[in-house]
Amino acid sequence: MPELPEVETTRSGIAPHVEGRVVTEVVLRRRKLRYPVPRTLLADLPGQMVERVERRAKYLLLRCEAGTVLIHLGMSGSLRLVAADVPAEKHDHIDIVFENGQALRLRDPRRFGAVLWLTGDPMEHKLLATLGPEPLSDEFDADYLYQHSRKRKVAVKQFIMDSHTVVGVGNIYASEALFRAGIRPQLAAGRLSRRRCELLVESIKSVLGQAIAEGGTTLRDFVDGEGRPGYFKQQLQVYGRAGEPCRACAGIIREVRQGQRASFYCPACQR
Ligand SMILES: [Zn+2]
Repeated sequence: MPELPEVETTRSGIAPHVEGRVVTEVVLRRRKLRYPVPRTLLADLPGQMVERVERRAKYLLLRCEAGTVLIHLGMSGSLRLVAADVPAEKHDHIDIVFENGQALRLRDPRRFGAVLWLTGDPMEHKLLATLGPEPLSDEFDADYLYQHSRKRKVAVKQFIMDSHTVVGVGNIYASEALFRAGIRPQLAAGRLSRRRCELLVESIKSVLGQAIAEGGTTLRDFVDGEGRPGYFKQQLQVYGRAGEPCRACAGIIREVRQGQRASFYCPACQR
């Protein structure tokens, strides 16, 4: 699944190629994605110039004067820039064609992705309005995490993966950040000390920041905005390493299930 770093890599990859470009046509090959692609997109997007490409959580926003194209890559989506006359393949569901003959093409084999056309302030749309802060923003700091976690009995791993707490902390990044912070994934969020909130915030920022800096990805068939494959370059410390020795203490990494997701941790390094 494309995670926040992959979506950010996509954003920075496509932005220089589409910002300032005028859309001439929208080619829709399959309307039924996670939500039906609205007919207003086909009617209202042609003629619009993409002013900026932004990201909020795992949503990409193509901001135009009359509205905003909101794109979510779902489970398996990828966006690439192609010459508009390159024949579409089976899972290429939608092209946004620009006046220079380039097209932004969404490929999404599992069709959990979404392409919507929003008018008005997109941040007030129901998909975006209740999201927590961006992990790399100044708003997401130790004070915020400490205040927000008081009296919460939910396990800290599930707490940081909840998009109302903070957006974009997927399963791998949550496990790795908790290892870096020395916090056991099962610990109740409300029991985090102020100091440990500080460590956890720093760890989340560094794990995600590093993945973004490396254009990293967790998905083998992910391609960046220029069609190049991406690789998760960070060495994983705990994720997927159950039964293997901890790289810090040589203890054995354990796996537990939390809310149907696998969590990995070192019982010696994480308390
Ligand atoms: Zn260890």
